[in-house]
Amino acid sequence: AVRFDNPLLPETRSEMALPLVSRGRVIGAMTIQSDKPAAFTEEDITALQTMADQLATAIENARLFAEVEDDAWRRALISEVLQAASTSLDPEDLLHRAGETISHRLGTPSAVFLWEPGEEALRPVAVHASDASDIPLDEGVQVTREMNPTLFAAVEQRCSQVLERVAGSVSGPFAVLADRLRLRYDIYVPLVSRDRVLGVLALCRTEGQPPPGPDDVGFAEIIGANLSVVLENARLFQDAVQTAERLAEVDRLKSQFLANMSHELRTPLNSIIGFSRVILKGIDGPLTDLQRQDLEAIYNSGQHLLGLINDILDISKIEAGKVELSFELVDLEEVIRGVMATAIALVKDKPVEMQQSIPDDLPAVIGDNRRIRQVLLNLVSNAAKFTDEGFIRVEAWADEEFITISVADSGIGIPPDKLPRIFEAFTQVDASPSRKYGGTGLGLAISKSFVELHGGRIWAESEVGRGSTFCFTLPVQGPPALQEGTVVEEPPVPAEMPDAEGGKLVLCVDDDQGVITLFRRYLHKQGYRVIGLTDAARVLEEAKRLKPHAITLDVMMPEKDGWQVIQELKADPETCHIPVVMCTIVSEEGRGMSLGAADYLVKPILEQDLLAALDRLDREAGRHLVLVVDDQEEDRKLLRRMIESQDGYEVVEADSGQEAIRLIRRVRPQLIVLDLMMPEVDGFAVLEAVKADETTRSIPIIVVTAKELTAEEHRLLNHRIAALIQKGVLEQEELLEDVVAALQKWERRRVA
Ligand code: ADP
Repeated sequence: AVRFDNPLLPETRSEMALPLVSRGRVIGAMTIQSDKPAAFTEEDITALQTMADQLATAIENARLFAEVEDDAWRRALISEVLQAASTSLDPEDLLHRAGETISHRLGTPSAVFLWEPGEEALRPVAVHASDASDIPLDEGVQVTREMNPTLFAAVEQRCSQVLERVAGSVSGPFAVLADRLRLRYDIYVPLVSRDRVLGVLALCRTEGQPPPGPDDVGFAEIIGANLSVVLENARLFQDAVQTAERLAEVDRLKSQFLANMSHELRTPLNSIIGFSRVILKGIDGPLTDLQRQDLEAIYNSGQHLLGLINDILDISKIEAGKVELSFELVDLEEVIRGVMATAIALVKDKPVEMQQSIPDDLPAVIGDNRRIRQVLLNLVSNAAKFTDEGFIRVEAWADEEFITISVADSGIGIPPDKLPRIFEAFTQVDASPSRKYGGTGLGLAISKSFVELHGGRIWAESEVGRGSTFCFTLPVQGPPALQEGTVVEEPPVPAEMPDAEGGKLVLCVDDDQGVITLFRRYLHKQGYRVIGLTDAARVLEEAKRLKPHAITLDVMMPEKDGWQVIQELKADPETCHIPVVMCTIVSEEGRGMSLGAADYLVKPILEQDLLAALDRLDREAGRHLVLVVDDQEEDRKLLRRMIESQDGYEVVEADSGQEAIRLIRRVRPQLIVLDLMMPEVDGFAVLEAVKADETTRSIPIIVVTAKELTAEEHRLLNHRIAALIQKGVLEQEELLEDVVAALQKWERRRVA
């Protein structure tokens, strides 16, 4: 106890002062007075001492409690900011959400600036008032070093700064805004990630609020650190997305390039194959044995190259997701038989036995005939390539759901470490420049894609030195998507009753039943039987079944247009000889367009196709003048050679539409071979001119298009046809006459 005079309590005679000590630290003091001298006994002192200790503990507890509560509040704030920020992956949006939450929780204005490295400036992206309302910013507002040196110090020193706003301490448009918000103090926290300043977080205090202490700055720094992390994440994500988009674009360009390139390569290749064939056939005169050998090498290499280019085209289409299968009922036994026949030629110089085992009751599957054949041919060709002696065996079997086809060989086999990768594009067991076996490593990748597009699976087993077995499955009912959609499953159209017994059968394909009726009525009078078909997807199948004398084909059909259908018909050996009249008629308006009433060829034009088309035509006695219209000089020359090799034909060439129209008027050819795709005046203009003139209308036209029409070209062709129909090139009656004239030309030829 200590004695002293207390002027507030003059009567004080004795006084006791006690320190309040908590955890070894004095946190305060307590005094007790009495008006009696020496009032405090030893007991009093002990009791008061205890009381002081308890008081100190209570105060400490209360302080700790407040601290904990404050801490919890701060934690909650940070977690709320993080939560708000994480609802967006767009950096600016995220900063907006975070800023709003900060202002809302703290009840003070806040701002976030992003550092613009190129411009040495900070751009405010999210400014919020004390009530957390968003303050819209003028486009292009920036803060430069001159406007607010303290803000810049935060960036340059990477260390928090506090600004007390006094007159003239800041300038610029943002200072005006700050005045409006009555800002008094700013805490600037740099947002730093991986040693890079991303921006600055500003927590502000308005007039009347106390200046921020070290504790406030510390807390602002914690918020800043958290914000930096989410901001950086969002930026990384954005980068990743952009990179992925760029890669996808690059990939698309690559596929496009491959497709274009392959396409471009095919044109000159066509000349190489075509001309060597022309010479080989002796059209240009007799050959010595040596010349024949050399030419055969050229011809075979050309064919080989064409195969490779087609593979590359396939894989680029697969990668671009542009492969469309055309589903139909496929007789696998027939496919296997066809492939085996081809394969025999591949092993004719080797002691390899071709074996096959297929149950009689193997069901047909719903699939793409051409693609399934391609897969099997690839497996069998591989087997033939890698087998020097022994056997190649093709087997097929079915269970409820799948048909499995296996191709086993007794060849060199595949090492186990290579086996898992052989289905990847461009993968070969021996890819060294000195390798013994040729190839691109694309065959299996293409096969795998085609099998999977069918809903099947492909795999291989092998033992080095013993042989390999490749298997693939095909779902009997086609891929699952098809099974649900049921395009194919509907029963075949009941072939309509033939309407003129004994007449030649014409298959009329048009999505409009009215047009079919029109054709039927008209053709019936001319002694033809007509069977109508409105489903373009089934033309090939029905043509095989019905074996019609001719087909009339609507160019403009939904789902599958006439170009696709005719390409299928021409690609199939069973249907390629059937003459097709491409025409489109709008039944209500009574207008139509006939695309030449003779035939249709696809590039590269093979000699036998061309000759067959000529052969199908009516050939009157005497010489025939054939006009070849094509902008490609090589193609014209080739066609000339092929055509003039036939007796009685003479070729006139036109390298453009204009030239063709001029020549048609002048020389009146008996036949026109017309490329539809030419720059400027295209084949359609020629068609229009031919059809519009009564005297030339019945000149047969063999239409030529590129084999792989791009989507763009498809659109263009159909667009041109639509335009011609619009013009009303042919009235309904004229179109029908045109078609009949064409049918009769074939008729006469056949009779002759
Ligand atoms: P390519 O035959 O053009 O090289 P593929 O994709 O068809 O391309 O085949 C890839 C590779 O798989 C071949 O290069 C070969 O190494 C291996 N391979 C495929 N089939 C067989 C087989 N029947 N026997 C041994 N190796 C094979």
